[in-house]
Amino acid sequence: MTANLVANPTLSIVIPVYNEEDGLKALFDRLYPALDALAAKRKISYEIVFVNDGSKDRSAGILSKQVELRPDVTRAVLFHSNFGQHMAIMAGFEYAKGEHIITLDADLQNPPEEIDVLTEQLLKGHDYVGTIRADRRDSFFRKFASRAMNRLRENITRITMTDQGCMLRGYSRRIVDLVRQCDESNTFIPALAYTFSANPVEITVKHEERFAGESKYSLYQLIRLNFDLVTGFSVMPLQIFSILGMLLSLAAGSLFVYLLVRRFVLGAEVEGVFTLFALTFFLIGVMLFGLGLLGEYIGRIYQQIRKRPRYVVQTVLEKK
Ligand code: UDP
Ligand code: MG
Repeated sequence: MTANLVANPTLSIVIPVYNEEDGLKALFDRLYPALDALAAKRKISYEIVFVNDGSKDRSAGILSKQVELRPDVTRAVLFHSNFGQHMAIMAGFEYAKGEHIITLDADLQNPPEEIDVLTEQLLKGHDYVGTIRADRRDSFFRKFASRAMNRLRENITRITMTDQGCMLRGYSRRIVDLVRQCDESNTFIPALAYTFSANPVEITVKHEERFAGESKYSLYQLIRLNFDLVTGFSVMPLQIFSILGMLLSLAAGSLFVYLLVRRFVLGAEVEGVFTLFALTFFLIGVMLFGLGLLGEYIGRIYQQIRKRPRYVVQTVLEKK
């Protein structure tokens, strides 16, 4: 096939890729047939935008070969280095030309065959298609942590999503443009996009085990990502903290008065020093946590005001 990319396709599929050399072939083998069938069935055009997030393996080479193989529907954006999954999707949004945009992971955890169900909802007029992973195939720890984070987000933000972690999602052009305008350097795209949606819908999609390689998120990165989610959408942690600080100082103040009175009524005494130590350490712990929390917000303010580019694109491989 030698046809060039369509200028304004109906559907853009955005896929971030980071060190996925072992799984890309399998992804292509399922993704392209699924999309070709979808396009024929619904009589629409599509394009795929791969964003190589500074992979250190052969992913970039495999993607460039794929652009040669299917230049009619494939574009590959190559990052200068690793900027993270959400920045890769952001760049995908920048280069996607479609009227509707669907994001997907490269590891086949989101079955490409499900794109059709999302497309149906988008074509129906929904501007945001959220997804819930049926029978999620991840480690017990990941599932447990996700549930806890979903609940926390539910309580401190006005964002209502059943399953925030699933990246197989659909957005209208309007929402994607708004998300791009935000210019945030630490963000969580599904949540940000949700805040702009006017007619959202949630559907259940299948979930599979990672086809090859392993998760690109360490525990540390997962914690960072979740801080992005919390700090990016709510200042409630800071507010809760100031209230907690108030209550604690009230309690500490009462304790002080009580000890002072005892000192004069009973005279000097040394019992209970360890209780006091315990209390002191507890208060120090709370203070350190508060400082850390402040640091999370301040660090993000700092990153934002430096106004450095959020990502650096090395090349865009496409046939025009
Ligand atoms: N990814 C990325 N940059 C990163 C980490 C991950 O582009 O720094 C991509 C990765 O290639 C995959 C998707 O983001 O397509 C989701 O990553 P992963 O499957 O490792 O996350 P998990 O499913 O464990 O949450
Ligand atoms: Mg995965």
